[in-house]
Amino acid sequence: MSDSVNKRVVIVGGGLAGMACAVALETLRWRGVQVTLLESRHALGGRASSFEDQENEAELLDNCQHVLLGCCTNLIDLYKRLGVSELITFYRYVHYLDTAGRRHDLWGVDGLPAPLHLGPAMALFSALTFGERIAVMRAMVAMLALGRAGRDKLETMSFGDWLDANAQPASVVTKFYDPVLISALNEETRRASAKYAIQVFQEAMLANANGYLIGLPNCALAKLYEKGPCEDLRLSTRVDEILFAPRPTAHGPRPTGVKLRGGEEIQADTVVLATNYHAVQRWVSEELQTSDTRFEGLAKLESVPILGVHLWFDRPVMKLPFAALIEAPDGGEFGGGLQWLFRKDAEGKVLHGVISASRAWVNVPKDEALKKFEKQVRSLFVDARHAKLERGVIVIEKRATYSPGPGCDALRPLQGPPVGGIEGLFLAGDYTATGWPATMEGAVRSGYLAAEAVAKSLGIDAKFMVADLPVEWPARMMGLR
Ligand SMILES: Cc1cc2nc3c(=O)[nH]c(=O)nc-3n(C[C@H](O)[C@H](O)[C@H](O)COP(=O)(O)OP(=O)(O)OC[C@H]3O[C@@H](n4cnc5c(N)ncnc54)[C@H](O)[C@@H]3O)c2cc1C
Repeated sequence: MSDSVNKRVVIVGGGLAGMACAVALETLRWRGVQVTLLESRHALGGRASSFEDQENEAELLDNCQHVLLGCCTNLIDLYKRLGVSELITFYRYVHYLDTAGRRHDLWGVDGLPAPLHLGPAMALFSALTFGERIAVMRAMVAMLALGRAGRDKLETMSFGDWLDANAQPASVVTKFYDPVLISALNEETRRASAKYAIQVFQEAMLANANGYLIGLPNCALAKLYEKGPCEDLRLSTRVDEILFAPRPTAHGPRPTGVKLRGGEEIQADTVVLATNYHAVQRWVSEELQTSDTRFEGLAKLESVPILGVHLWFDRPVMKLPFAALIEAPDGGEFGGGLQWLFRKDAEGKVLHGVISASRAWVNVPKDEALKKFEKQVRSLFVDARHAKLERGVIVIEKRATYSPGPGCDALRPLQGPPVGGIEGLFLAGDYTATGWPATMEGAVRSGYLAAEAVAKSLGIDAKFMVADLPVEWPARMMGLR
């Protein structure tokens, strides 16, 4: 093994980004790469994880329901590497409920290539009037014609402006775009960057017939990570400090390891920070940050909250496995109620609801919020008319994800150091430059990209990123490439 290197890589943070980076670099063990993954909590998964129910310690509750799509090729690859693919169920039918509880479905015709697969369902989509359906179809054709390069050029434009330029009525925004985009981007439809909004439709609906499939874990999120991504995994291990060489090396400053809470030091030539961007800024001194352009935009990224609520009813209320709620009824002054509902047990007594971009809900007292959610569920399902909410647990993640608003790409750092930057220090996390919004897929992409950059810095040529789903021929003919 003449080309073997003997380098230690410490990864700080065992969320999806850190796990993806660890699982990828672990494959280079035979080249001398030694990976250590440090996670401050007692479980892996970070924001996409679970906690013990205080009233029933045997039960794990997810901090929030997490949804993936068929187009999340890297996340699906990570699940394969962790040996948990069979724990994800993919659904072909996407259910929508309007304010009166009427059901409208979108589904793909088996065997038809994209975007033809969704044509029949869109033509019949009863939540929209005939005129609204035509408007949506026009927008979809425009998104196809833009191609990927065309959409990327719209990064600094708001999707609101794009919708206006493409004559999309306000009613279509609330009935069609909001249920898809607010949850996919964790941002209000009109405030999101046109690039990221159009990407959701191009990749999930227009490019490949499997892109739109909705994937849901059929276990608590924490169970997906039980195998662990690498041999040297240390849970309940909080990093307090990144150690840097006391004097800059010939190539500028570089880390020499990390200091753990309790004082232990772990030496490493390479450190990957796979925490959120708030922690990253705290660890690197202002002086060092000025030498590395990756830190320039971090303070300007805006965090957007997500609300998740676990609801236990006294009787079965919901039969569908999940539903997107059109016009999120009954939020009243908080600008919209629950946007998606998921059935969490076989009977339909336990539900989970989600409100993305939930800025208006951050300071609402939990009792008041629960009353509103109970009322909303009752208004949607016949079986729930007389149901009583026995218990509710609300989790609001105030810093759920950064806002993918116009111009956000300029603020997102690359994973590897720029020329003159801090060599040996790598970044991974959903906020880094991945070309994807802050999602599980984005986090995994960042981890694989960081692993590729680390490998390159060690003189190893390795590729971990998985290709997007192929664009099928009708979509290609209509301009999507
Ligand atoms: C409520 C909510 C709902 C969401 N829903 C969806 C969804 O449906 N679909 C989807 O695709 N995405 C969803 N997301 C987004 C997704 O969860 C994130 O994009 C992704 O999990 C981010 O992963 P990450 O590894 O970048 O960061 P994180 O998950 O934040 O991981 C960072 C890790 O670093 C650890 N850490 C921090 N400080 C230290 C320290 N000092 N020492 C050691 N370890 C440390 C943390 O404990 C954490 O485990 C949702 C997010 C939230 C919050």
